[in-house]
Amino acid sequence: MSKDYYLVLSAKYRNNMGENTLIELKGLTKRYGYGDTESFALKDFDLTIKRGEFIMIMGPSGCGKTTLLNIIGLLDRATSGEYILNGEDVAGISARRQAKLRAKKIGFIFQNFNLIEDLPILENVALPLVYTGYSKTARLKNASNALKRFHLQEREYYFPYQLSGGQQQRVAIARAIVGDPEIILADEPTGNLDSRSSHIVMEELKAIHEEGNTIIMVTHNPALTVYATRVINMLDGHIDTDVKTVADANLPQPISVKIKKRQKPETKIELPKEEEKKKTKKHKKSRRKK
Ligand code: ADP
Ligand code: MG
Repeated sequence: MSKDYYLVLSAKYRNNMGENTLIELKGLTKRYGYGDTESFALKDFDLTIKRGEFIMIMGPSGCGKTTLLNIIGLLDRATSGEYILNGEDVAGISARRQAKLRAKKIGFIFQNFNLIEDLPILENVALPLVYTGYSKTARLKNASNALKRFHLQEREYYFPYQLSGGQQQRVAIARAIVGDPEIILADEPTGNLDSRSSHIVMEELKAIHEEGNTIIMVTHNPALTVYATRVINMLDGHIDTDVKTVADANLPQPISVKIKKRQKPETKIELPKEEEKKKTKKHKKSRRKK
């Protein structure tokens, strides 16, 4: 093997390693209060998250789980430390840029669903798309498609109070994925659900994960960790234990990321000559119309 070839190979390898890292937190600290009232929700927190992981975060109440999720979701900022998202240092970016990134890359699911009570569920689901520049019609169409996935298409014009808890959480999941984000953050998503609805919600999350999405979920229920590829136990603002149950190489491939890049196929599909002619004629016609 020539030396050049080897260099190319190792560069490629390095690249792949980099591409698979989605989130890096380094020395993250979140402090509340000063002096006597000073307390740390997170202290010198380090965490690297790969694309395609399904991480479950557990730990006693008050140990910093929600704080961590809110910082990862760009809803909150750390007092100090680094947050690198897709290779970009996002800890110090403007609130405006944070909001934009959040809309594009992150979907949220909350314990109490957080649906807007006086909007029909279709409009609830369409909400995250407001920041994307789609027309209203396109937004509602996307929302309608997302609801179909959760078999709620017949209830588009229902209001949240007309649905069961399990249905409301499925609406919330539809809202979380409607913008095709790379990261789904879920803060005790089954905390207010009975076991049957919990199971349905977890199966939905499992399917979303298998499509290559990265999920970070807080839970109190140890039984749910069977869905995770990694279980992190937190204690007093730091990681107590961190166990991967699936090797990085076996994580699902990120389908949506690939679609987003819209890479052109390398080989052009050859059409038979007649078809090719028709196509160019049509093309010319439609251009003339304009
Ligand atoms: P968890 O989600 O694990 O229950 P949180 O992240 O909500 O924990 O909280 C971590 C710690 O930070 C707790 O001690 C909590 O009291 C404290 N905390 C959270 N938010 C605030 C705030 N706005 N002001 C002061 N302390 C806060
Ligand atoms: Mg919490």
